[in-house]
Amino acid sequence: MKRSIILIIPLLFLLACTGREDNIDPKPVNPEPEKNYQNVILLIGDGMGLTQITGARTVNGGQLNMLKCKSIGIQSTHCADKYVTDSGASATAMSCGQKTNYYSLGVDPQGNPLETIVETLEKDGVATGLVTTSQIVHATPAAFYAHQTDRFQYEAIALELVKSGVDFFAGGGQKYFDQRSDGINLIDSLTARGYQVANAPDEVSEIKKTALFIASDKPVSIPEGRGPVLKQSTQKALENLKTSKKGFFLMVEGAQIDWAGEENDQEYLMAEMLDFDAAVGVALDFAETDGNTLVVITGDHETAGFALTNGNLANQTITGQFVTWLHTAAMVPVFAFGPGSDAFTGVYENTDLYFKFRNFYGL
Ligand code: ZN
Ligand code: MG
Repeated sequence: MKRSIILIIPLLFLLACTGREDNIDPKPVNPEPEKNYQNVILLIGDGMGLTQITGARTVNGGQLNMLKCKSIGIQSTHCADKYVTDSGASATAMSCGQKTNYYSLGVDPQGNPLETIVETLEKDGVATGLVTTSQIVHATPAAFYAHQTDRFQYEAIALELVKSGVDFFAGGGQKYFDQRSDGINLIDSLTARGYQVANAPDEVSEIKKTALFIASDKPVSIPEGRGPVLKQSTQKALENLKTSKKGFFLMVEGAQIDWAGEENDQEYLMAEMLDFDAAVGVALDFAETDGNTLVVITGDHETAGFALTNGNLANQTITGQFVTWLHTAAMVPVFAFGPGSDAFTGVYENTDLYFKFRNFYGL
């Protein structure tokens, strides 16, 4: 008797469980499509070190979008031939995984071309985008598609961009495409290659290859009235690139953080920091919804040796001082969010960012 009770109780329990199982549909009616792509949004604050971030956090009432990231690292920015890098060599380190010479773009110290992460991904069918508040042929964006030992060859760099296959780009510098010394009109070349060419974010109407020129040469600063064009261009880029079935790589640059530092202009510097952080907010919101997007936010070097010698948290004011008009060698922070973000913790060289991106894409 005792033995049969022992047998019956587990049997009843099993039947009860099975009965309950029957009421649950094991397969959802609309199964989520499997996500088999990876996206990276790399946001570079040109000249953005810890004090630029600290100052912006203070004037913004104690918070910044980038500071929501939980995975934080530090990168060293020196280049192959100098202790203090320029923007070309530091962007090349991130785009190609090799230290190169001052003023070089997408080439090794001997001048041999290196394949950039954008070029590798383009070959693989991954969509690519570049958005900046400088000219699109300026050092930071150019290091992702151009190969030059002299970063100032803007007309040659524009030719390289047309041939690069980059799916969405936004920035200034239209004159290097349509007012060239060789008389070639590269706007026509872009159109022939299927690009829509626009002059403001709200003119970008189609989901197709896009060239968005926000200025003939240098875009104006935030204090001069640029408006939220970086944030809007980032939004447009994401609307376009997210339609890629093989994922995308988007680089967004807050270029004028550096220019403000070089002018030793604190008000300009803080305005550009907050403009950049607004674009960071767009990227983080996208990544949070998407779930397959890694966001990495960093600087390419520190600019001007910005120091905070006083300030007031309650009044949201800072007193800054600049020790130089040039770049400095200080290591810069890296903030990461989303899948794969753990790989960005620790202390490493700027070249390691390239290898971390490759790992994330499974290359
Ligand atoms: Zn720079
Ligand atoms: Mg730059």
